[in-house]
Amino acid sequence: MDNRLTDSDSITLADAFVQVKALYEGLDAEIDFHKPRCVASGRCCHFEEYGHRLYATRLELEYFRNVEIVPPAQAAGGESSLDTKTKPPDRTISFPLPLINDNGEIAPGCPWQVNELCTARRGRPLGCRVYFCDPTSTHWQANAYERYHRLLKILHDKAGLAYAYMEWRAGLGTLLFTPPPPPKENG
Ligand code: SF4
Repeated sequence: MDNRLTDSDSITLADAFVQVKALYEGLDAEIDFHKPRCVASGRCCHFEEYGHRLYATRLELEYFRNVEIVPPAQAAGGESSLDTKTKPPDRTISFPLPLINDNGEIAPGCPWQVNELCTARRGRPLGCRVYFCDPTSTHWQANAYERYHRLLKILHDKAGLAYAYMEWRAGLGTLLFTPPPPPKENG
């Protein structure tokens, strides 16, 4: 990915999104090299059924919002916060499948998986990209995850975005309560 990550200058959130895209492309190319087998079982997205959890960083969630969820114009420029208790949920954001069940509990599985297929491939986070249930792929997965996660942390700093690491559905829920961060000038 772009070597500007090693510079100490700060960047705008829009620049950070460009870097996240490049980072994902680099990772995807690396994964192609390993040629892991995907049988489209949907196992990676049925968290409860298969006993695993997906986590994503704050920047990845913001990137996901930017490419997969059209942000409501009226929210642009507002304050961003992880405090979901004091803000009304943004009902203009919706997901292909419900995020919250009628009983108020988080629905099992990912709300972007429809008929065993991911409907958010452009914006899906690092954890989704790197996870393959192919047993021959375990040796490189953790290493790739750590390296790219480290780069994402650096991007948080450079973009002045408070780092957070959240369970995927909890993070998506947070997006319902928080407007996108205000645009920031380079400086
Ligand atoms: S974003 Fe896509 S790959 Fe990731 S958990 Fe959801 S459906 Fe699966």
